[in-house]
Amino acid sequence: MSGTEFTVALLRWFAQYGRELPWRGIGDAYAIWVSEVILQQTRIDQGTAYWYRFMERFPTVQHLAAASEDEVLRLWQGLGYYSRARNMHAAARQIVEQGGFPHSIQGLKALKGVGDYTAAAVGSMAFGLPAAAVDGNVYRVLARHYGIDVPINTTRGKHTFEALAQELLPRDAAGTFNQAMMDFGATWCTPRSPRCQDCPVAPTCDALHTGCVLELPVKENKVKMRERRLSYIYVRHGGMTALRRRPAGDIWQGLWEPLLVEDAPPPDLGCPLTLLASGVKHVLTHRILLADFYLAEPAVRPVLPPDYVWIKEREIGNYALPRLVEKLFKQFTLL
Ligand code: SF4
Repeated sequence: MSGTEFTVALLRWFAQYGRELPWRGIGDAYAIWVSEVILQQTRIDQGTAYWYRFMERFPTVQHLAAASEDEVLRLWQGLGYYSRARNMHAAARQIVEQGGFPHSIQGLKALKGVGDYTAAAVGSMAFGLPAAAVDGNVYRVLARHYGIDVPINTTRGKHTFEALAQELLPRDAAGTFNQAMMDFGATWCTPRSPRCQDCPVAPTCDALHTGCVLELPVKENKVKMRERRLSYIYVRHGGMTALRRRPAGDIWQGLWEPLLVEDAPPPDLGCPLTLLASGVKHVLTHRILLADFYLAEPAVRPVLPPDYVWIKEREIGNYALPRLVEKLFKQFTLL
């Protein structure tokens, strides 16, 4: 199967089986961009629900740009990888300052948090720019169909797959082809149970004929996971509790958390601490967090480090929390 035949087969497949998603077919760069940012690390069903919430609260890029960072983070709560939300907010302000979305790949890539993939996805779907959007789905489909075992997480791999995807891209239907590849990878040529028996490109699929479908794509050994131990102390005094906003340069930048001690014993708060939960595991990219959670109810309000602020307990819901903290608060009905 030549490149053109593969492309035609995929477009035909897409016309029949492509997913109907609310941001498709409307040519709205903002709606497409928001969906792409949300879906980078999120399942489609969960992501779609968030997309609706975002579009309802911030229907245009101007609305998003005018919002406070706290409000954006609160709406993002539960999706994780908060740098995406912060970057999206900063990029919205760049877009408004420039008077609208840039209509070139280079211009899109100059926006905060927009890399090759997002620029190509938005550029091709909103403006018809001929740029291949290469995500995990595309790596998998191409590695299998063309039998490529160059590790996808290497510079050589990235170049190999990007060049091939670009070669297959039809200039007059770039956006549709990019969506076809994403959908095909997500629903047909899936990581563990690909539907090879009714696959439109099965006759020419290298991996299928050499029996190595599940071995492709290849990844070079992964980064070692680092472990961190956190102790959170929920300090309650007179209907108030203390939170602080997490600083820059670490996980969860800008989100709020209760009193934290890391790799050290809990401080003396003038009262015994009740251990509510121990060793709660939370996995992030490259990190495993193990958290202990304590309750302290001192008779006298303790002096805490200066970055902690006292807030009314019933107003906790107004603060954007990391998922781990939210989980603990919910478990102990503090939220
Ligand atoms: S035959 Fe199977 S492995 Fe090959 S492209 Fe189709 S679904 Fe993927």
